[in-house]
Amino acid sequence: MSWLNEFDDRLAALDAQSLRRRRREVVPEQGARLNVDGESLLAFCSNDYLGLSQAPELREAVRTAVDHYGVGAGASPMVSGHSVANAALERELAGAVGLPRALYFYAGYATNASIVPALVGEGDALFSDALNHACLIDGARLSKAVVHRYRHADLRQLDALLAASPARRKLVLSDAVFSMDGDVADIATLHALCERHDALLLLDDAHGFGVLGPQGRGALAAVGLTGAGASPRVLYMATLGKALGVAGAFVAGPDRLVEWLLQKTRSYTYATAAPALLAEAVRASLRCVLGADGEHRRQQLRARIAQLRTGLAPGADGRIDAAGWTLMPSDTAIQPLVIGDNETALSVMAALRDQGLWVPAIRPPTVPAGTARLRIALSAAHDAADVDTLLRALRMAAARTAMATA
Ligand SMILES: *Cc1c(COP(=O)(O)O)cnc(C)c1O
Repeated sequence: MSWLNEFDDRLAALDAQSLRRRRREVVPEQGARLNVDGESLLAFCSNDYLGLSQAPELREAVRTAVDHYGVGAGASPMVSGHSVANAALERELAGAVGLPRALYFYAGYATNASIVPALVGEGDALFSDALNHACLIDGARLSKAVVHRYRHADLRQLDALLAASPARRKLVLSDAVFSMDGDVADIATLHALCERHDALLLLDDAHGFGVLGPQGRGALAAVGLTGAGASPRVLYMATLGKALGVAGAFVAGPDRLVEWLLQKTRSYTYATAAPALLAEAVRASLRCVLGADGEHRRQQLRARIAQLRTGLAPGADGRIDAAGWTLMPSDTAIQPLVIGDNETALSVMAALRDQGLWVPAIRPPTVPAGTARLRIALSAAHDAADVDTLLRALRMAAARTAMATA
């Protein structure tokens, strides 16, 4: 029998463990609502933190760009794909994050998966936070460097690992905002450790760019390691499909490092450039983010975060406490409500869905065993009534859980 037939059994095994994933077909509606397989749901699962994916300014930028540039880029940026729009975007991104130079990629996953192997290789050493995003992990694997994983946010352990490593080239990898916990890395200490041990720091700010720092300039700007304070040993990476509401990513930093990445990153050289229409959409988005509109959207987002945290704080509602649920300490748009066991997390997700709410349950192995959670993602597209609706539904579900376990 051909091994190809085994895929039926392997898929059945996924079903047996409730691990088979299914996609929903969605159409955006008003605000944070999505039409999902024909049903209108209030969504708390999007990383469109500022609601910019639906902004009229971005739509208009794309319409104009299509008339001017057409659709596809036609070739790698190393050949004829590097449009004047993409070049302008790179200068604007560098300016926005206060770093000397930026390189614009068509996707965030591909960026990290391929810049890590461009920077280090066999005989070199990588140091990676245990909760880093999959694309950093995959980049580490591709690089063939020795990988040292340190416990999440345990910078003492990182210090010890860096000190013990005999490698001459050391690269530290960290998310700036951790995607399943919503906490922010201690970037100042990470940078200080890199100075002490002559290491390079690569920060992935997929969830911070547009939201954190002055004018949304990101997590690195928030700690002053940009502009006059820019460091020769930091590479800053951020994505453009989350708070920026479009698609793609960029890496920014010292000229010699960015120039090296331009020369050696395979997903840059051997992939068709991002279409100019997307670069123009990002440029329009960046203007919003840095301007009064962005400030207003960030205020909205902060208000929703405060509203949710107040509503779920210990003591605020006995039902949440009685169910044993805990909101993790996060100041960002990612607000994880830890429920504990997988079945309860799934049944709460289902109960919310019955009430027209889409809040994703995240289970191991994406998160540690026993910490299944609802990953509540807030956005400037939510209004106060949306968060109230969520709070009411969570309280009802908590009361049911507390009763079932009493
Ligand atoms: C989403 C995400 C990426 C991938 O970016 P895409 O542009 O969606 O491919 C990379 N890193 C982190 C931390 C992310 O959350």
